[in-house]
Amino acid sequence: MPPLADPMLFDPSFELTSALCVKSTKSWSVQKSSDLYRVGGWGAPYYKINSRGNMAVRPFGAKTAPNDEIDLMDTIREVVASQDNITMPLIIRFPDIVKNRMDTLQSAFDRGIARHRYSGRFQGVFPVKCNPDRYLIEEIVSHGRYINFGLEAGSKPELLLVMAAMCRASNDAFLICNGYKDVEYVEMALVARTMGLNTMIVLEQLEELDIVIKVSNQLQIRPVIGVRAKLSTKHAGHWGETSGEKGKFGLSTSEIVQVVKRLRKVDMSDCLQLLHFHIGSQIPSLSIVREGVSEAAHIFCELALMGANMNVIDIGGGLGVDYDGTHSSSSDMSIGYNMEEYAETVVEAIKDATVQKNVKQPILCCESGRALVSHHSVLVFDVFSAHKNGGTGSDRGISYNIDGLPEELKYLRDDFARSLDNGDPECILMCAKKLKNESTRLFKQGLLGLEVRAAIDELFETVSVYVGQQKNDSSMNLVNQNGCDDQCRPREAGSDSSATYHINLSIFKSIPDSWAIGQLFPFVPLHRLESQPTERVILSDLTCDSDGKVVTFIGNDKFGAETANHLPLHELEDDKPYYMGMFLGGAYQEVLGSLHNLFGNPHVVHVVPSKSAGGVRITKFLPGQNLANVLCAMNHAPQLMYENLKERVDNYLREGTLEKENAEVILMSSFSSYTYLAPDKHSRAFHQNKFIYS
Ligand SMILES: *Cc1c(COP(=O)(O)O)cnc(C)c1O
Repeated sequence: MPPLADPMLFDPSFELTSALCVKSTKSWSVQKSSDLYRVGGWGAPYYKINSRGNMAVRPFGAKTAPNDEIDLMDTIREVVASQDNITMPLIIRFPDIVKNRMDTLQSAFDRGIARHRYSGRFQGVFPVKCNPDRYLIEEIVSHGRYINFGLEAGSKPELLLVMAAMCRASNDAFLICNGYKDVEYVEMALVARTMGLNTMIVLEQLEELDIVIKVSNQLQIRPVIGVRAKLSTKHAGHWGETSGEKGKFGLSTSEIVQVVKRLRKVDMSDCLQLLHFHIGSQIPSLSIVREGVSEAAHIFCELALMGANMNVIDIGGGLGVDYDGTHSSSSDMSIGYNMEEYAETVVEAIKDATVQKNVKQPILCCESGRALVSHHSVLVFDVFSAHKNGGTGSDRGISYNIDGLPEELKYLRDDFARSLDNGDPECILMCAKKLKNESTRLFKQGLLGLEVRAAIDELFETVSVYVGQQKNDSSMNLVNQNGCDDQCRPREAGSDSSATYHINLSIFKSIPDSWAIGQLFPFVPLHRLESQPTERVILSDLTCDSDGKVVTFIGNDKFGAETANHLPLHELEDDKPYYMGMFLGGAYQEVLGSLHNLFGNPHVVHVVPSKSAGGVRITKFLPGQNLANVLCAMNHAPQLMYENLKERVDNYLREGTLEKENAEVILMSSFSSYTYLAPDKHSRAFHQNKFIYS
């Protein structure tokens, strides 16, 4: 009986398939990696693969000079060299990308305004809920000073944050107050007006109007009021629930009319100046933008005609990001338009309504969050081990000689042997399954030893991989016959094993949307991209939670598939780190992340191109949370913990069972260490990065 897993003996097409793969491996190129990971689709103009086969950043987008490109592997080296004992994961921020996004948004609207001879101007605000990081907000405010860029808050802490930050903004910049409000919120927003901050209180609920009228009377401060309209326009994607007449937020048309009447009665019609709406995040297509903005623009005009002092229309957020790089308007993970087209559509729709109703053209405000900050950061992490499912062929023959097999199982073993001779894969699988089921049953009754059960489980595993491979090969041959024979999917010659790579990261901390709502992000190795990735991988994180994994990825075939159930990656090399990046996660992920298993915030570095050609300069290093930090977050008191442990340590030192040097491991270093895995300080490896075969 020949070893089953040698595919040449069972699969007549093997030679052909293998020959194609070998040819393709040799002619692999950086361009092929770029196509495989769709870097041009989701990453342009900020990300590319450079000629060294590394991921590189172009911080100024299309205007980036070749000397200003930042090699991400150089960046990691620089960070590791500049800080003691730094290990992954790491968030790398590129402040220049945020500035470029702001400029691109501003100029898109400026151009739309010029093209349509629109008489209002554009003023953006950044919704801080998207990423409330102090330094990010500071960058946005300082860069936005000359374009009157403002901020949006949706809660009291955000309001305080925004008020303090906007002390450095231009006086005309908007400070938009959204979210549910109580008396204290309204007081803060009103007093801010008397400090020269341009706060606009947007009513989310009818009840808030009473609070605003009462507090403004008490404080004798005239408010600037906006209303948030609940539009009938809805989008079907994940965030579409925000919108539509049954949406969670905003006032219905009848409530809006009541607001106008109430304000008229108390002689405050001049205070109502802004109309706000938000169709929902990640709007997939321009037709929805056009419909929603038109509906809102007509509400705006009607309010003006009813005597309100309308001069700002705030179109909310929703400008999307092309996560999967397909430029498609039919998927949650993509968008079928760019910033320029978005702005053009908005300006045109508002212009049309105002011309039709003969109303003064308002200032255009937009609260784009996702589209401004998604691109500016990269989450860098390493792979600490790999677990390959099934064998590679030559070293993994199927042997059914199992020592100590009890009599009751021998007939099933013989059936299995006959099925091997027969060669029908389905039949082989079925016989192996029977053997496995029966052995499990006997084990549960205490009639079978663990070693025998393990041998049978292993046999079954090998057989299922073999059968899966047979099926895959036949479908692959179909593709080949259809003329796509240079399409050599990343797979090891002669096997279709998929591997699980264990990543030094918590999905719950760093990519929560992947777990919570199935959001896809591009994952790409940061190096070795000049060579072909040969493994088909799923990712598994550090948490003790079966949900802590990524099993769906953006598509990676030539046919434009929306998703893939594996990520092509390189085989790990002994003692060498394998670095990967998660891209487009600059919006929402950091703030939504949780402390599951007490994995804390990763380190953050800010990076800009250095003056010397092709170099990088680290402008900020913000250490991630250590063990003491995350324990504090759950109300533990590291000082008390230390004292408890110290008392115990001292007792055991006295008794002589504990050595002094060993005690220091607990008392000296542990509280200040990073929450993630660290490679061995001496070998710089986690352990031998060899594949572990199941
Ligand atoms: C969340 C939110 C935004 C930001 O939306 P993006 O899709 O990230 O641009 C803007 N405005 C309001 C009211 C929001 O709730």
